[in-house]
Amino acid sequence: MTLFSTSREVTKMAEDSYEDAIAGLKKLLSEKNELEDTAAAKIRQLTAELEGADGKKSDPDEKIRSGFAHFKAEKYEKNPELFGQLAKGQSPKFLVFACSDSRVCPSHILNFQPGEAFVVRNIANMVPPYDQTKYSGVGAAVEYAVVHLKVENILVIGHSCCGGIKGLMSIPDDGSTKSDFIEEWVKICLTAKAKVKAEFCDLDHSEQCTKLEKEAVNVSLGNLLTYPFVREAVVKKNIALKGGHYDFENGSFELWNIDFKLTPSVAL
Ligand SMILES: [Zn+2]
Repeated sequence: MTLFSTSREVTKMAEDSYEDAIAGLKKLLSEKNELEDTAAAKIRQLTAELEGADGKKSDPDEKIRSGFAHFKAEKYEKNPELFGQLAKGQSPKFLVFACSDSRVCPSHILNFQPGEAFVVRNIANMVPPYDQTKYSGVGAAVEYAVVHLKVENILVIGHSCCGGIKGLMSIPDDGSTKSDFIEEWVKICLTAKAKVKAEFCDLDHSEQCTKLEKEAVNVSLGNLLTYPFVREAVVKKNIALKGGHYDFENGSFELWNIDFKLTPSVAL
């Protein structure tokens, strides 16, 4: 083997040594009658750890390969017209802000198909105010979606049990922060926290967090109006701003529209 192995070779080596380790441990275990009980138990534990808690080998590469194979067989190859169109360009109607939380993927919960939604995901689904010196990743995504793709809707989705919102709720009132990035980021919706604490001081912590999950969405919708190209599109009625809240404990989705002043919400 050359000094510079390909990643496939390295993976193969890793698989070989992994298989060897499992095989060796199983061989030892089959001879356990000759071993002390404690030694046999130790080997069993090591084998279980190598194989994964469910007894199956935990292989992220295989997860990725089989995931793509499933998508290709079930979606890509069954919709040649759609993917042929998408190869030429995208024209999504939605810009969606969702939390990075692994439980709230918009494509799953709202059944967005490829090409339907331009998605930004971050901690607690927040839209920072227009600022060319900070948050340029979000600014670039909003600019691209609004100016170039000309999306017709911007939807910000909050969700139940949001860790980022709990983080915002737990920031001390003196503003001191303990994390490197998270607390500074979620402070984008500090005004929502102040509002919830003032208006719902009689609610318990968990209920206040739920209120904050929704109020933070409203702050983000307000922040969208600080982007000149968003404001212009809203004034011309080319873009609608929508708030949403996904509750995965109860399996419900609340949707509301922003038309400079809040309109009554609709539970789905
Ligand atoms: Zn979240």
